[in-house]
Amino acid sequence: SATKVAVIGAGPAGLIVANLLRKAGVDCVVVERHTRAYVEQRPRAGMIEHRVVEMLRRHGLADRLDQMADAHTSCEFRIDGRRHEIDYSALYGGRRHYVYPQQELVTDLVAAFLGTGGDLRFQAEGVRLHDLDTERPSVTYTDAATGRAARIDCDFVAGCDGFHGVSRASVPAGALTEYSHHHGINWLSVLAAAPPSTRSVIYAIHPDGFAGHMLRSSTVSRFYLQCPVGDSVDNWPDERVWAELRKRLALRDERWTLTEGPITEKRMLDMRSFVVEPMGHGRLHLAGDAAHVITPVGGKGMNLALHDGERLAEALAAHYAGSDALLGAYSETCLRRVWRCQEFSRWMTEMLHAPAGEGGAFQRRLAVARLEHILSSPVAAAAFAEDYLGQD
Ligand code: FAD
Repeated sequence: SATKVAVIGAGPAGLIVANLLRKAGVDCVVVERHTRAYVEQRPRAGMIEHRVVEMLRRHGLADRLDQMADAHTSCEFRIDGRRHEIDYSALYGGRRHYVYPQQELVTDLVAAFLGTGGDLRFQAEGVRLHDLDTERPSVTYTDAATGRAARIDCDFVAGCDGFHGVSRASVPAGALTEYSHHHGINWLSVLAAAPPSTRSVIYAIHPDGFAGHMLRSSTVSRFYLQCPVGDSVDNWPDERVWAELRKRLALRDERWTLTEGPITEKRMLDMRSFVVEPMGHGRLHLAGDAAHVITPVGGKGMNLALHDGERLAEALAAHYAGSDALLGAYSETCLRRVWRCQEFSRWMTEMLHAPAGEGGAFQRRLAVARLEHILSSPVAAAAFAEDYLGQD
């Protein structure tokens, strides 16, 4: 078959590209390795920036989000057993964060695309990209449901298949510059069927390491625990997870209880950052995790993927309307935001983490100084709020 744009991957980036292209009247086909049920149930991020929600609203893609998502205006830091709340919304024009699990957004975007007759091919195995250096690239794959081989001829490929996808790997060696950094920290990421024990996100700095309590829904919470590099999920039976969370999140002079519940997912995250420049090669343009990954600190990954997707769809639509200016600027435009977020995430990583025990005493003291700076200086607090909420 033939189309104008072949989109690889039905995650947040690919689905935004596909939905916006359809709205602009540009033909596209999406190929996704997994089943629909799988992508609609994969829990990951949960915090959506104000400007992204506005973008979804503008395109009529936020109806269910507006019914279900909680809007947040503050976050809480805990250090030495004391809590400090930052009302970030008041510091950045009343903008808010929305808590809406990634799989819900993916579900909405799949439904919106298919609902308008979009062509989305699940279970596409062995996807390969060809002739990216020509004006007529193509994509081949095998439909795992039927075993049949398929080929899509196109003008452009949108590589939205995440960090481990095939798109970036299809670029000839040496054409992209890679920036990669390991932050020297692991997070144990835990999803639990437990109602939240807080109204706002909690970031706790503790001598035994960072602990985070993130919000997902009225029945599900996500928690993070800092652990040493090389640690394994096997070392973290459920009882240890709860004991460690209770200890690191504890308050000194106030009563506060952590609501526990069955743990449904435990993963060890190696905190790393990665960016490629430029975000594309020939007729391939990369968007989201395919081009850059960021630590979960600050909650930027999904927001960047959605921002890239919006920019790419707009640039491709402009191409078919006769102008290549946006396409030419696509990589540079996205990378500016990507690097801003990388810098903010790194800054926040340094504020929240110190090596556990005596060795980290100096860094913990610096963390307190950073936090006190935000809490006592309106200028520093406003700068934090702008980055945390995401610049317009
Ligand atoms: P993905 O969501 O990875 O989507 C890529 C799609 O491509 C997938 O559907 C995949 O199946 C498909 N695919 C892959 N390879 C192929 C192939 N060869 N052929 C065809 N299809 C393929 N971000 C935030 O903003 N806030 C948070 O709080 C946050 N928390 C996170 C917590 C966890 C535990 C994790 C893992 C991530 C978190 N993130 C968070 C990051 C966020 O989930 C990602 O940045 C986001 O999913 C990127 O979207 P994407 O569309 O670029 O890639």
